[in-house]
Amino acid sequence: MSAREAILRADKAHVWHPYTQMRRYLDEVEPLVLSRASGSYLYDVDGRRYLDASASWWVAVLGHGHPRLLRALREQAEKMGHVAFAGITHEPAAMLAKELCAVAPAGLSHAFFSDDGSTAVECALKMALQFRSFHGARPRRFVALEGAFHGDTLGCTSVGGVEVFRRPFADVVIDCVHVPVPEAGEDHGQSRAVQALVELVEKEGASIAAVVVEPLVQGAAGMRMVRPEYLRALDAACKKHDVLWIADEVFTGYGRTGTMWATEQAGVVPDILCTAKGFSGGLLPMAATLVSDRIFDAFATGDRAFYYGHSFCGNPLGAAVAREVLAVFREERVLETIQPKIAKLRAAFEAFTALPGVVRTRSLGMIGALDLATSSSYLGTRGWGVYEAALARGAWLRPLGDTVYITPSLTIADAELDELLGIVEASVRAVAGP
Ligand SMILES: *Cc1c(COP(=O)(O)O)cnc(C)c1O
Repeated sequence: MSAREAILRADKAHVWHPYTQMRRYLDEVEPLVLSRASGSYLYDVDGRRYLDASASWWVAVLGHGHPRLLRALREQAEKMGHVAFAGITHEPAAMLAKELCAVAPAGLSHAFFSDDGSTAVECALKMALQFRSFHGARPRRFVALEGAFHGDTLGCTSVGGVEVFRRPFADVVIDCVHVPVPEAGEDHGQSRAVQALVELVEKEGASIAAVVVEPLVQGAAGMRMVRPEYLRALDAACKKHDVLWIADEVFTGYGRTGTMWATEQAGVVPDILCTAKGFSGGLLPMAATLVSDRIFDAFATGDRAFYYGHSFCGNPLGAAVAREVLAVFREERVLETIQPKIAKLRAAFEAFTALPGVVRTRSLGMIGALDLATSSSYLGTRGWGVYEAALARGAWLRPLGDTVYITPSLTIADAELDELLGIVEASVRAVAGP
C-alpha cells in the first residue's frame, strides 16, 4: 500500500473534517494528502506542489516554515514547552504582551492570551458582559453585522451572521441583533445601514453588551468589504452612547489589509481587539484579546476577577513564535515590502472584472476576490468549478461558495504572485468558457 493509500484509508475510516458533508466526502472526495509545506507552496505525498492561495485559511502570513519562526520554536521547546499561567509568568508571554501592546492601536494596554480566533472572541464577549455588570447593567444582547463570522464556539456562533453556521443552533444562542451592512456603491458614512446601527445604539444602548465587527472586510461572508467611514460612524455612535465595541481582527490584523490593523485605516480604536491567525504566523494555535485601560482597571478593582482561562493560556511555544513574528515584521519591514504586491494584486483583480462569468471583483491589501453570481452565497457551487480547475493548474484555491478569492502569504515572491494570478485567470476562463 502506498503512503497515500494508507493515510486515506485511516482518514476515511476515522476522521471527521470541519465544514464538510461527510457522506459526500467519503463517497466522492479525493482530498489532497500533504506531507510538507514551504514558503507559498504545499507539497503532497507524491511530491506534487500547489500554491497556497489562502495562506492556509489566512493563517500563514509569513509563508510556511519561515526559518526564523522555526528557530524560535525549537529554542523555546528546548527550554520550556508549557506551564500554567496563574501565579506564574515567563519571558515569552510577558515580553510578547509588551511588544504586542507597543504595536497595537493606541490605548490598548493589556493582553489576555488564549488559543485561537474563537477563544479570543469568546473572551472578548465575556469581558464585555462582566464589565457591563460592574455598572449594575444587565445587558444580554450583542450587536453584530449580517454575514459576520467570529468563530465557532457557542458565544461566537451567537454573534455570527452566516446563516448556514448559525441555523442548527438558533434555538440556544445568546441574543444578538444583526444589522445590515452598507451596500457596494452606497455612501458608507451615511447609508441606511449606518442609520440603522446608530438608531439601535441610541435607543437600546443600555441593553447592549457590545457591538462586534470585523473591520473593513468580512472574511467568511465572501470577502465583503466595508469602507472606513462605516467604522468611524460605528465608533462615534458607540462612544457617544457609551456602548463598548469589539474589533475582531483575527483575519484582518497583521498586514492583511495593507496596514498592521484594519482599524488603523479608519483612525479608530476599539475597546477590545481580538487577534489570532497571523498572530502566531500560522504555526501554532495562539491568540490574544487586547483591552483598554478602562476595561482592565474595572476588573482590577476590589475583589473582582475575570473568571476565564484555558489550559494553554500564555503557552510559551506560541508566545515565542508570536514574538518572532513581530520581530520579522519589524526587521524585514513586511508592511513596506507588501505595497508593490498589493498594487499588482489590485490591478489584476480590476482586470478580472472583464473575465467571462465574473459579476464583480474587489481587493484590499493582500486580499483579492471575485464573485461568479449576483447574490453570492456560501452554499453556491460555482466557485468549486474554479477550485478543480486551479488544482489541475497547481494552486489550492478553496472558494467561499460563489466567491473565489486569494489571500496569499505576505511574503509571497513576485513571480509566485504572478503565477497565482495567472492560475486564477486561467481557471475562471476554463469554467466560464473563452
Ligand atoms: C477565523 C476567524 C475566527 C475564528 O478563528 P479560529 O482560529 O478559527 O477559531 C474569528 N473571527 C474571524 C474574523 C475569523 O476570520
